[in-house]
Amino acid sequence: MADEWRRYLAQQAELGGAEVILGAPLAKESPAAPMPTDRSSTTAPRPSGESRAGEAPAKDAASSPAPATEPKWKRGAPPIPGPGIAVLSPAPVLLGNDLGMLDTIDAVAERIRTTYCCELCPNRTNAVPGEGNPRARMVLVGEGPGATEDATGRPFVGQAGQLLDSILEAIDVPRSSVYITNIVKCRPPQNRKPLPDEIAACIPYLHRQLDLIAPKVIVAMGGTAGEAMLGVRKSLGELRGKVHTYNGIPLIVTYHPAALLRNPNWKKPTWDDVRIARQLLDR
Ligand code: URA
Repeated sequence: MADEWRRYLAQQAELGGAEVILGAPLAKESPAAPMPTDRSSTTAPRPSGESRAGEAPAKDAASSPAPATEPKWKRGAPPIPGPGIAVLSPAPVLLGNDLGMLDTIDAVAERIRTTYCCELCPNRTNAVPGEGNPRARMVLVGEGPGATEDATGRPFVGQAGQLLDSILEAIDVPRSSVYITNIVKCRPPQNRKPLPDEIAACIPYLHRQLDLIAPKVIVAMGGTAGEAMLGVRKSLGELRGKVHTYNGIPLIVTYHPAALLRNPNWKKPTWDDVRIARQLLDR
Protein backbone atom coordinates (compact mmCIF):
# COMPACT_ATOMS: atom_id res chain seq x y z
CA MET A 1 0.00 0.00 0.00
CA ALA A 2 2.80 2.40 0.93
CA ASP A 3 4.26 1.90 -2.54
CA GLU A 4 0.94 2.65 -4.13
CA TRP A 5 0.60 5.87 -2.14
CA ARG A 6 4.13 6.87 -3.11
CA ARG A 7 3.33 6.24 -6.76
CA TYR A 8 0.11 8.21 -6.51
CA LEU A 9 1.84 11.14 -4.78
CA ALA A 10 4.56 11.14 -7.41
CA GLN A 11 1.95 11.14 -10.15
CA GLN A 12 0.06 14.05 -8.62
CA ALA A 13 3.28 15.98 -8.09
CA GLU A 14 4.14 15.37 -11.75
CA LEU A 15 0.77 16.84 -12.68
CA GLY A 16 1.29 19.83 -10.43
CA GLY A 17 -1.77 19.03 -8.36
CA ALA A 18 -0.29 17.59 -5.20
CA GLU A 19 -1.19 20.48 -2.96
CA VAL A 20 -4.68 20.66 -4.31
CA ILE A 21 -5.49 17.00 -4.29
CA LEU A 22 -3.62 15.68 -1.35
CA GLY A 23 -3.66 18.63 1.06
CA ALA A 24 -4.97 18.57 4.60
CA PRO A 25 -8.53 19.59 3.65
CA LEU A 26 -8.85 16.43 1.61
CA ALA A 27 -7.86 14.31 4.55
CA LYS A 28 -10.44 16.10 6.70
CA GLU A 29 -13.17 15.98 4.11
CA SER A 30 -12.57 12.40 3.14
CA PRO A 31 -11.48 10.48 6.19
CA ALA A 32 -12.56 7.27 4.54
CA ALA A 33 -10.83 8.05 1.25
CA PRO A 34 -9.69 4.74 -0.20
CA MET A 35 -6.07 3.93 -0.63
CA PRO A 36 -5.06 3.86 -4.27
CA THR A 37 -5.50 0.35 -5.49
CA ASP A 38 -4.06 -1.74 -8.23
CA ARG A 39 -5.56 -0.35 -11.42
CA SER A 40 -6.29 -3.81 -12.72
CA SER A 41 -8.60 -4.46 -9.80
CA THR A 42 -10.43 -1.12 -9.74
CA THR A 43 -13.48 -0.16 -11.69
CA ALA A 44 -11.39 2.16 -13.82
CA PRO A 45 -13.33 2.57 -17.04
CA ARG A 46 -11.79 1.14 -20.17
CA PRO A 47 -13.12 1.68 -23.63
CA SER A 48 -14.79 -1.25 -25.22
CA GLY A 49 -14.02 -3.07 -28.35
CA GLU A 50 -10.86 -3.81 -30.17
CA SER A 51 -7.47 -3.31 -28.67
CA ARG A 52 -4.15 -3.01 -30.40
CA ALA A 53 -2.41 -6.18 -31.44
CA GLY A 54 -0.87 -7.96 -28.51
CA GLU A 55 -2.97 -6.22 -25.90
CA ALA A 56 -5.83 -7.63 -23.91
CA PRO A 57 -9.19 -6.16 -24.92
CA ALA A 58 -10.10 -3.25 -22.65
CA LYS A 59 -13.29 -3.21 -20.61
CA ASP A 60 -15.95 -0.63 -21.38
CA ALA A 61 -16.18 2.32 -18.98
CA ALA A 62 -19.91 2.52 -19.53
CA SER A 63 -20.51 -1.13 -18.79
CA SER A 64 -18.25 -1.32 -15.74
CA PRO A 65 -20.01 -1.44 -12.38
CA ALA A 66 -20.35 1.98 -10.72
CA PRO A 67 -17.34 2.71 -8.52
CA ALA A 68 -18.09 2.19 -4.84
CA THR A 69 -16.07 5.29 -3.97
CA GLU A 70 -15.25 8.44 -5.85
CA PRO A 71 -12.22 7.97 -8.07
CA LYS A 72 -9.21 10.02 -7.01
CA TRP A 73 -9.08 12.07 -10.18
CA LYS A 74 -12.59 13.33 -9.42
CA ARG A 75 -11.74 14.92 -6.10
CA GLY A 76 -11.75 18.68 -6.62
CA ALA A 77 -12.44 18.27 -10.33
CA PRO A 78 -14.13 21.32 -11.85
CA PRO A 79 -17.72 20.98 -13.01
CA ILE A 80 -18.33 20.42 -16.70
CA PRO A 81 -18.37 23.92 -18.26
CA GLY A 82 -20.89 25.35 -20.68
CA PRO A 83 -20.92 25.06 -24.45
CA GLY A 84 -18.42 26.69 -26.76
CA ILE A 85 -18.08 26.50 -30.52
CA ALA A 86 -19.96 23.87 -32.52
CA VAL A 87 -18.44 22.67 -35.79
CA LEU A 88 -19.30 20.01 -38.32
CA SER A 89 -16.63 18.18 -40.26
CA PRO A 90 -16.70 18.79 -43.99
CA ALA A 91 -18.27 16.00 -46.02
CA PRO A 92 -15.44 14.00 -47.67
CA VAL A 93 -16.90 14.75 -51.08
CA LEU A 94 -16.35 18.46 -50.46
CA LEU A 95 -12.70 17.83 -49.72
CA GLY A 96 -12.19 16.59 -53.26
CA ASN A 97 -10.68 13.30 -52.17
CA ASP A 98 -11.75 9.71 -51.79
CA LEU A 99 -10.97 9.34 -48.09
CA GLY A 100 -14.62 8.55 -47.50
CA MET A 101 -13.99 5.26 -49.29
CA LEU A 102 -11.39 4.17 -46.74
CA ASP A 103 -13.43 2.36 -44.18
CA THR A 104 -10.93 1.31 -41.56
CA ILE A 105 -8.42 3.19 -39.44
CA ASP A 106 -5.70 0.94 -40.85
CA ALA A 107 -6.67 1.86 -44.39
CA VAL A 108 -6.41 5.55 -43.55
CA ALA A 109 -3.02 4.96 -41.90
CA GLU A 110 -1.81 3.07 -44.94
CA ARG A 111 -2.90 5.93 -47.22
CA ILE A 112 -1.05 8.43 -45.02
CA ARG A 113 2.11 6.31 -45.09
CA THR A 114 2.06 5.81 -48.83
CA THR A 115 1.14 9.23 -50.19
CA TYR A 116 2.35 12.81 -50.12
CA CYS A 117 -0.17 15.57 -49.46
CA CYS A 118 2.05 18.60 -48.77
CA GLU A 119 5.60 19.92 -48.62
CA LEU A 120 6.23 18.22 -45.26
CA CYS A 121 5.87 14.70 -46.67
CA PRO A 122 9.03 14.36 -48.78
CA ASN A 123 11.20 15.25 -45.78
CA ARG A 124 9.76 12.74 -43.37
CA THR A 125 11.54 9.64 -42.11
CA ASN A 126 8.16 8.16 -41.22
CA ALA A 127 4.66 9.47 -41.46
CA VAL A 128 2.87 9.32 -38.11
CA PRO A 129 -0.77 8.48 -38.79
CA GLY A 130 -1.74 7.91 -35.16
CA GLU A 131 -2.20 4.85 -33.01
CA GLY A 132 -4.48 3.26 -30.50
CA ASN A 133 -7.86 1.69 -30.21
CA PRO A 134 -9.85 2.04 -33.46
CA ARG A 135 -12.98 2.09 -31.31
CA ALA A 136 -11.61 4.47 -28.72
CA ARG A 137 -14.02 6.50 -26.65
CA MET A 138 -11.42 9.24 -26.25
CA VAL A 139 -9.30 10.66 -29.06
CA LEU A 140 -6.40 13.00 -28.31
CA VAL A 141 -5.09 15.29 -31.02
CA GLY A 142 -1.69 16.98 -30.94
CA GLU A 143 -0.01 19.36 -33.35
CA GLY A 144 2.43 17.30 -35.35
CA PRO A 145 5.17 14.70 -34.92
CA GLY A 146 8.47 15.64 -33.33
CA ALA A 147 11.88 14.04 -33.84
CA THR A 148 11.20 10.82 -31.90
CA GLU A 149 7.82 10.41 -33.58
CA ASP A 150 9.36 10.97 -37.01
CA ALA A 151 12.02 8.37 -36.22
CA THR A 152 9.54 5.77 -34.97
CA GLY A 153 6.33 6.50 -36.88
CA ARG A 154 4.44 6.61 -33.56
CA PRO A 155 2.71 9.63 -31.96
CA PHE A 156 3.69 11.06 -28.59
CA VAL A 157 6.56 8.74 -27.76
CA GLY A 158 9.13 11.40 -26.80
CA GLN A 159 9.25 13.40 -23.57
CA ALA A 160 5.89 15.03 -24.17
CA GLY A 161 4.47 11.57 -24.78
CA GLN A 162 5.71 10.34 -21.43
CA LEU A 163 3.97 13.22 -19.73
CA LEU A 164 0.82 12.45 -21.70
CA ASP A 165 1.02 8.84 -20.49
CA SER A 166 1.13 10.06 -16.86
CA ILE A 167 -1.83 12.35 -17.43
CA LEU A 168 -3.87 9.51 -18.91
CA GLU A 169 -2.88 7.19 -16.11
CA ALA A 170 -3.95 9.79 -13.55
CA ILE A 171 -7.47 9.91 -14.98
CA ASP A 172 -7.66 6.10 -15.12
CA VAL A 173 -7.63 6.00 -18.90
CA PRO A 174 -5.02 3.55 -20.22
CA ARG A 175 -3.09 4.77 -23.23
CA SER A 176 -4.00 1.54 -25.02
CA SER A 177 -7.68 2.45 -24.75
CA VAL A 178 -7.49 5.81 -26.53
CA TYR A 179 -6.53 6.88 -30.02
CA ILE A 180 -3.75 9.46 -30.31
CA THR A 181 -3.04 11.41 -33.45
CA ASN A 182 -1.99 14.82 -34.73
CA ILE A 183 -3.25 17.60 -36.96
CA VAL A 184 -0.39 17.01 -39.42
CA LYS A 185 1.03 13.56 -39.86
CA CYS A 186 4.58 14.51 -40.91
CA ARG A 187 7.16 16.36 -38.86
CA PRO A 188 7.53 20.07 -39.60
CA PRO A 189 11.18 21.15 -39.89
CA GLN A 190 12.73 22.10 -36.52
CA ASN A 191 9.35 21.32 -34.95
CA ARG A 192 7.91 24.61 -36.17
CA LYS A 193 4.16 25.06 -36.15
CA PRO A 194 2.51 23.59 -39.23
CA LEU A 195 1.58 26.22 -41.80
CA PRO A 196 -2.04 26.83 -42.76
CA ASP A 197 -1.67 25.13 -46.15
CA GLU A 198 -0.01 22.11 -44.53
CA ILE A 199 -2.89 21.86 -42.07
CA ALA A 200 -5.43 22.26 -44.84
CA ALA A 201 -3.79 19.48 -46.86
CA CYS A 202 -3.52 17.03 -43.97
CA ILE A 203 -6.62 17.63 -41.85
CA PRO A 204 -8.93 15.57 -44.08
CA TYR A 205 -7.15 12.49 -42.68
CA LEU A 206 -8.08 13.57 -39.17
CA HIS A 207 -11.68 14.15 -40.22
CA ARG A 208 -11.82 10.63 -41.63
CA GLN A 209 -10.16 9.13 -38.56
CA LEU A 210 -12.70 10.81 -36.31
CA ASP A 211 -15.56 9.73 -38.56
CA LEU A 212 -14.46 6.12 -38.30
CA ILE A 213 -13.65 6.10 -34.60
CA ALA A 214 -16.67 8.20 -33.57
CA PRO A 215 -15.33 8.76 -30.04
CA LYS A 216 -17.30 10.05 -27.10
CA VAL A 217 -14.80 12.81 -26.28
CA ILE A 218 -12.05 14.59 -28.20
CA VAL A 219 -9.16 16.38 -26.50
CA ALA A 220 -7.28 18.90 -28.60
CA MET A 221 -3.84 19.46 -27.09
CA GLY A 222 -2.48 22.92 -27.75
CA GLY A 223 -3.67 26.00 -29.59
CA THR A 224 -2.76 24.67 -33.03
CA ALA A 225 -4.93 21.58 -32.56
CA GLY A 226 -7.78 23.58 -31.01
CA GLU A 227 -7.79 26.23 -33.73
CA ALA A 228 -7.47 23.73 -36.57
CA MET A 229 -10.26 21.52 -35.29
CA LEU A 230 -12.61 24.39 -34.58
CA GLY A 231 -11.65 26.43 -37.65
CA VAL A 232 -11.04 29.63 -35.67
CA ARG A 233 -8.17 31.94 -34.76
CA LYS A 234 -8.34 32.28 -30.99
CA SER A 235 -5.95 32.08 -28.08
CA LEU A 236 -5.72 28.93 -26.00
CA GLY A 237 -7.13 30.97 -23.11
CA GLU A 238 -10.23 31.67 -25.15
CA LEU A 239 -10.60 28.05 -26.22
CA ARG A 240 -10.11 26.41 -22.82
CA GLY A 241 -12.87 26.04 -20.26
CA LYS A 242 -15.71 25.28 -22.67
CA VAL A 243 -17.26 22.17 -24.10
CA HIS A 244 -17.01 22.71 -27.85
CA THR A 245 -18.49 20.15 -30.20
CA TYR A 246 -17.13 18.53 -33.33
CA ASN A 247 -19.96 16.78 -35.17
CA GLY A 248 -21.79 16.80 -31.86
CA ILE A 249 -18.87 15.13 -30.04
CA PRO A 250 -17.67 17.10 -26.99
CA LEU A 251 -14.27 18.63 -27.65
CA ILE A 252 -12.03 19.97 -24.88
CA VAL A 253 -9.04 22.16 -25.65
CA THR A 254 -6.09 22.09 -23.27
CA TYR A 255 -2.37 22.78 -23.15
CA HIS A 256 0.02 20.71 -25.23
CA PRO A 257 2.13 18.38 -23.06
CA ALA A 258 5.31 19.92 -24.52
CA ALA A 259 4.13 23.31 -23.23
CA LEU A 260 3.78 21.82 -19.76
CA LEU A 261 7.39 20.69 -19.88
CA ARG A 262 8.37 24.31 -20.56
CA ASN A 263 5.97 25.85 -18.06
CA PRO A 264 4.92 23.66 -15.11
CA ASN A 265 2.42 26.36 -14.02
CA TRP A 266 0.17 25.06 -16.77
CA LYS A 267 -0.02 21.59 -15.27
CA LYS A 268 -2.79 22.48 -12.85
CA PRO A 269 -5.11 23.97 -15.51
CA THR A 270 -4.36 20.99 -17.72
CA TRP A 271 -5.23 18.65 -14.88
CA ASP A 272 -8.58 20.47 -14.59
CA ASP A 273 -9.19 20.23 -18.34
CA VAL A 274 -8.48 16.52 -18.56
CA ARG A 275 -10.70 15.85 -15.58
CA ILE A 276 -13.48 17.67 -17.42
CA ALA A 277 -12.83 15.44 -20.43
CA ARG A 278 -12.82 12.43 -18.16
CA GLN A 279 -16.20 13.37 -16.71
CA LEU A 280 -17.59 13.71 -20.22
CA LEU A 281 -16.58 10.10 -20.83
CA ASP A 282 -18.86 9.05 -17.98
CA ARG A 283 -21.76 11.26 -18.98
N1 URA B 1 4.02 16.71 -30.22
C1 URA B 1 2.91 16.55 -30.97
O1 URA B 1 2.14 17.47 -31.18
N2 URA B 1 2.68 15.34 -31.46
C2 URA B 1 3.46 14.29 -31.25
O2 URA B 1 3.17 13.22 -31.76
C3 URA B 1 4.59 14.49 -30.45
C4 URA B 1 4.86 15.71 -29.95
